[in-house]
Amino acid sequence: MLASLKRITAKRKILKLPLFMARYSEFPLSLYNSYTREKEVFKTLHPGKVGMYVCGPTVYSYVHLGNVRTFLTFDVLYRYLIHLGYQVRYVRNITDVGHLVDDIDEGEDKIAKKARIDNIEPMEVVQKYTNDFHDTLKLFNFLNPSIEPTATGHIIEQIQMVQQILDNGFAYIVNGSVYFDVPKYQEAKGNYGRLSGRVLEDLMSNTRELDGQEEKKSPLDFAIWKKAEAMHIMKWPSPWGMGFPGWHLECSAMSTKYLGKEFDIHGGGMDLKFPHHECEIAQSVASDGIAPVKYWMHSNMLTVNGQKMSKSLGNSFTPAELLTGDHPLLKKGYTPMTVRFFMLQSHYSSTLDFSNDALEASEKGYKRLMKAWATLDSLVWKSGNVDLQLDKEITEALDEAYTNLSDDLNTAKCIANLFDLATRINSMANGQLDSGMLSKGTFDRLQKEFPEILRDILGILPEDGGDSGVVDGLMKLLINIRQNARANKDFATSDQIRNTLNELGIQIKDGADGTSYSLN
Ligand SMILES: [Zn+2]
Repeated sequence: MLASLKRITAKRKILKLPLFMARYSEFPLSLYNSYTREKEVFKTLHPGKVGMYVCGPTVYSYVHLGNVRTFLTFDVLYRYLIHLGYQVRYVRNITDVGHLVDDIDEGEDKIAKKARIDNIEPMEVVQKYTNDFHDTLKLFNFLNPSIEPTATGHIIEQIQMVQQILDNGFAYIVNGSVYFDVPKYQEAKGNYGRLSGRVLEDLMSNTRELDGQEEKKSPLDFAIWKKAEAMHIMKWPSPWGMGFPGWHLECSAMSTKYLGKEFDIHGGGMDLKFPHHECEIAQSVASDGIAPVKYWMHSNMLTVNGQKMSKSLGNSFTPAELLTGDHPLLKKGYTPMTVRFFMLQSHYSSTLDFSNDALEASEKGYKRLMKAWATLDSLVWKSGNVDLQLDKEITEALDEAYTNLSDDLNTAKCIANLFDLATRINSMANGQLDSGMLSKGTFDRLQKEFPEILRDILGILPEDGGDSGVVDGLMKLLINIRQNARANKDFATSDQIRNTLNELGIQIKDGADGTSYSLN
């Protein structure tokens, strides 16, 4: 298991090396900016360098598929920026304090609540679900960000930012808590609601009056520092007494620390636009006098058979259930690469609908591209009569694949170009086309760039079964789920996992050093 993990890590290190000279002028990138609501030509603040911040998970439960899709969008963007020759600093945080139940300023901290229910330390909750997050992302072949800061690791920076906002007159202190004064900010700066398209007056009339909100001057105000009650476990000393930072504050403080007061790209799920990202902008402007982000990007939601994915509708499944097929709505399990490929067949700004038919179609499509990749590797160019039309079509399809990626990261259209190329490659293998019908330059380019687009940019790898890192990762995930089920005395689930694996010829062995597996 270790050997194959090492191999995957080695592959990742290679990917980070500049593959060739900067191509960003050859295929100039455009991105849809959620803030201006326009597709804009991407221009970096500093030549050749990109600063990108993406809101990471709140680590109090297992990662859900919606998260996987959001982070996949930015994984591919990160890969593509590197591929174009940019030097990228990608910061993705871990929220380990301050995110309260119901996403409002009252109620228990999500992590502290889980710790209380499970009767463990909050940092055990954080560690457990951070590990799960990392394991899941590895399984789907994500690159690690450049920096992964935690909210608890940046309390000093957050206190400094609260102080700056207070000094600038955009916050007030009540009873040990500090609130951001939205109406006052709006009067001075006028941009609150611009990102999410909300009008302040409408927000005022729609905001629920909640218990415990009486400290605020306006129901629109939000906490940037909260006083900790005596029972509260996660708390720190501050100029306003013992407390903890508001949820929105960490991203402003950590993006400023690692990317500067102004940086290029800020990403996240669509659901974070309001209030989270709106508040991030307000905090940075109130503290530093400058709007922090040049391009705001938001990834869209998941649906299942056309309905919103939600726990209450019973149509929500976890990454593990999707991989094992252990869910009433799934006919069977799908491999991580099939799921990754499936997600990339939609543009990130469209909703993505899960259905068995769509997943099965992606499985076939993925296998077709992998077959073409293997075939292409085995082909040898031989001098012949060059078919100028065919040569031109292949060159154009490769150019179009890049042009589509540069057009607001249109992975769906790029994959269509790859299918087009796969048809030509398979014809060469079948003898219907001859490699000599291409010029040496075009053949070499095809042999180099077809796999590069798949492997380096889309992050799609062959799954060769047996000893592959993917199978190892998948087994590790299943073993973890089974161990958790046993710890929770859910023997039905743990037996089901063992028996199903047995039927597939995989033995699970519980030993003194933990659980291992073997293939029959
Ligand atoms: Zn955030």
